[in-house]
Amino acid sequence: MVSPSQSQLKTLRNYVGGQWVDAETKETLPVHNPATDEVLAQVPLSNKADVDAAVETAAKAFPSWRATPPQERARYFFKLRQLLEAHQDELARLITTEMGKTLDDARGEVLRGIENVETACGIPSLMMGYGLEDGAARGIDEEVIFQPLGVFAAITPFNFPFMISFWFWPYAVAAGNTFIVKPSEQDPIVQQRVFELIDQVGFPPGVINLVNGGKETVNTLLDHPRIKGISFVGSSQTAAYVYARASASGKRVQASGGAKNAIVIMPDANLDSYLSTIMNSCFGASGQRCLANSLILPVAGAHETARQRLVEAASRLRIGNGLQPETELGPVVSAAARDRIFTAITNGIEEGAQAALDGRTVSVPDYPKGYFVGPTILDAVTPQMHVYKEEIFGPVVGMTPVGSLNEAIELINANEYGNAASIFTSSGYAAREFRYRVETGNVGINVGVAAPMAYFPFSGAKRSFFGALHPQSRDAIRFYTESKVVITRWTEGDRSPVTGVGR
Ligand code: NAD
Repeated sequence: MVSPSQSQLKTLRNYVGGQWVDAETKETLPVHNPATDEVLAQVPLSNKADVDAAVETAAKAFPSWRATPPQERARYFFKLRQLLEAHQDELARLITTEMGKTLDDARGEVLRGIENVETACGIPSLMMGYGLEDGAARGIDEEVIFQPLGVFAAITPFNFPFMISFWFWPYAVAAGNTFIVKPSEQDPIVQQRVFELIDQVGFPPGVINLVNGGKETVNTLLDHPRIKGISFVGSSQTAAYVYARASASGKRVQASGGAKNAIVIMPDANLDSYLSTIMNSCFGASGQRCLANSLILPVAGAHETARQRLVEAASRLRIGNGLQPETELGPVVSAAARDRIFTAITNGIEEGAQAALDGRTVSVPDYPKGYFVGPTILDAVTPQMHVYKEEIFGPVVGMTPVGSLNEAIELINANEYGNAASIFTSSGYAAREFRYRVETGNVGINVGVAAPMAYFPFSGAKRSFFGALHPQSRDAIRFYTESKVVITRWTEGDRSPVTGVGR
């Protein structure tokens, strides 16, 4: 049998109730290789009937999955972890082929996804409640238990087509819920392969489902009365919309949004040691990371040196197809993204920014049809400019020199986004002040990409996160369960036998 990931030129399929099924919709979109413009597959834009089928099978699977003891549920994840590890390189290649990031970067993404599966293997400990003898009164005990709720769904973005679904479903499913994943329609192929591996694990039918699609698919999930909650990652505009619409139908929602992350470079920063981490945070994945740093705030004397070192290093980056080992900067995800980024650079220069390095003139002769944007460094960017305020999501960095650490922190806190911020300094005092005052969910101290490990929450604040409990770790377990408090009293008189009770 030809597997869905091998039959790439065909229309991708949904995975519902433990079976590969053709979506009922006839509407599809092409999936492109961003380095070559080649069409790799067609993705179906699943309709209401497609979503209903997935929700129905997930709802049906819930009672017996919930009744499966946590330690037994964990064993499925041990098996999944092994399968994912055995296919790491293949999965990384699929990511690079449809998304564009370099193979090294894609390998990192796969590892980060697997770490979430490893963390979910600890579900018996993660899901434990707590109790107190005589906690309510003498002879009356009180405890809290955490119970799964039913069907959840995740809607994920293009920039981590493998990893982001793993921020969610392993925790939800390990906790006893059933699940639907809706990947980005821009790069859905790697999830076909992931679900082939999930199929090999042998989860009971309906426990974990894949539904491909776009906006209408999302709307059906958001409104569906049998879905208990939604996990979302994408731009802030979509996150705000998803948060409002799904909560209006009574669901719990966690929605991670966009970002405009800044790096503060203090005059005492050890640039020799940290230049490569700064470069990676600005240009890794061609700036298409929610933790990418797209603003640099050099403090006082740090400006000239930082500009010179960054421009030198960025001009040396080797641009090309991410599948080639020497490539350091791959294409951006789509022709539309490339054109939008070029326009943002042009507008920034028209607003008065100085192009210290201009990526619009990039040429990659071996891949003339690729969606490439060269590394771009705009200097003298002011907080009033669009290029300062808006998320560009490309290899474009704005430099805004400031007079003091205080000014840098105030600028970061004035930003509508609050995903991440980093400081580079040799001063413990400056670092401590930064960590204490800065209003972002993730903070890096001499670290360029402050990406939380799976056993920490992937935080975010202000318009970078809508909700209360974040992806990953204990936050995820709490999101996917409800607390139930049980207060118990037994007295000597409670002796009558009870019959006819059982699951
Ligand atoms: P996007 O918002 O365009 O799409 C994300 C998902 O939402 C996709 O599955 C898409 O099908 C769906 N969608 C898009 N528009 C919709 C609409 N109008 N109605 C209903 N559904 C819709 O985001 P993207 O371009 O795929 O991803 C990039 C964005 O994601 C960036 O802003 C980036 O910062 C953000 N991001 C954030 C984090 C984080 O942790 N905060 C992590 C990764 C990416």
